[in-house]
Amino acid sequence: MGILQDMMYGAAKRWIAGKDMETALAKAREANAKGLGVILNYLGEDLQDPRVAEAHFEEYVKLQRAIRDSRIDGCVSVKLTQLGLGMDHSAVFEKTARLAEDADAMGQMLWIDMEGSGATTKTIEVYSRLLETHKNVGVALQAYLRRSEEDLLRLMDIGAKVRLVKGAYREPRDLVFHSREQVTENFIKLMRTLFERGQGFAIATHDSRPIEEAEKLHESHPDTKFEFEMLRGIRDDLKLRLAKAGYRVVDYMPYGEEWYPYSVRRIKEHPSNIWLLLRSI
Ligand SMILES: Cc1cc2nc3c(=O)[nH]c(=O)nc-3n(C[C@H](O)[C@H](O)[C@H](O)COP(=O)(O)OP(=O)(O)OC[C@H]3O[C@@H](n4cnc5c(N)ncnc54)[C@H](O)[C@@H]3O)c2cc1C
Repeated sequence: MGILQDMMYGAAKRWIAGKDMETALAKAREANAKGLGVILNYLGEDLQDPRVAEAHFEEYVKLQRAIRDSRIDGCVSVKLTQLGLGMDHSAVFEKTARLAEDADAMGQMLWIDMEGSGATTKTIEVYSRLLETHKNVGVALQAYLRRSEEDLLRLMDIGAKVRLVKGAYREPRDLVFHSREQVTENFIKLMRTLFERGQGFAIATHDSRPIEEAEKLHESHPDTKFEFEMLRGIRDDLKLRLAKAGYRVVDYMPYGEEWYPYSVRRIKEHPSNIWLLLRSI
């Protein structure tokens, strides 16, 4: 498995900004030089050992400072299960609050990724509490979940900053829209709500249809502040086209030793990546 994983890393490098912070920061500078902002994510999820969760937290503390010290136009995005969600709820809140406070002091955003549906309610709870004291924090919402419409309306009531994504996890059938078409329709529906009621939100997709729709919505809501966010290694040409057109475009860059589960999600969502993988093997 070790050798196979090493070979797989050859393909995964397209999506991963490296295995360590220094390499990821260098990739972030390259993206900045192309006119893109960056979001850095230290890979890891579903951690069950409090010492490992502490180490991940420390990595983010260092990463936020490194972004400031390197004058990188960027911020971090965290997964709450890597800070210990599922182990100690209050410790997760304290850690996330500390990252939000540091981000605030450094003029950065702090994004919170959304994970599998088992973590949705808790993630929104932690986020909503954080928002009471920190306005520079945003949370991802997944258009494939049927509940997201209600979640979005509640989040808009409290002035949330939302990153809208389609959703990347395998979920029980009754919780999600089933066809790609339905998910895209719901994405566009939620996006309209964001343009009507939100500020500082993110449209995080590589799908041309919602992106073109967002460009139209921007014309009718010219004062609404939002950004396009896309994953490293996917539709790089589109990122540059949108940046050239004057939009803020942000490249989401994960890095770290735990690149395998993230890469498997990318491969599964786009079958052509299997060829990329086979070529590298
Ligand atoms: C910035 C950002 C943050 C995200 N954060 C989260 C999160 O917190 N929680 C979560 O559940 N999900 C997250 N996602 C992932 C998201 O949910 C989707 O799984 C992913 O973005 C693919 O969906 P899509 O919107 O691009 O649409 P799709 O319909 O899947 O893809 C549209 C087009 O984009 C290209 N494309 C998409 N994916 C790939 C790929 N893997 N390889 C090659 N081409 C591809 C193809 O051209 C495809 O036709 C995030 C995505 C982004 C961009």
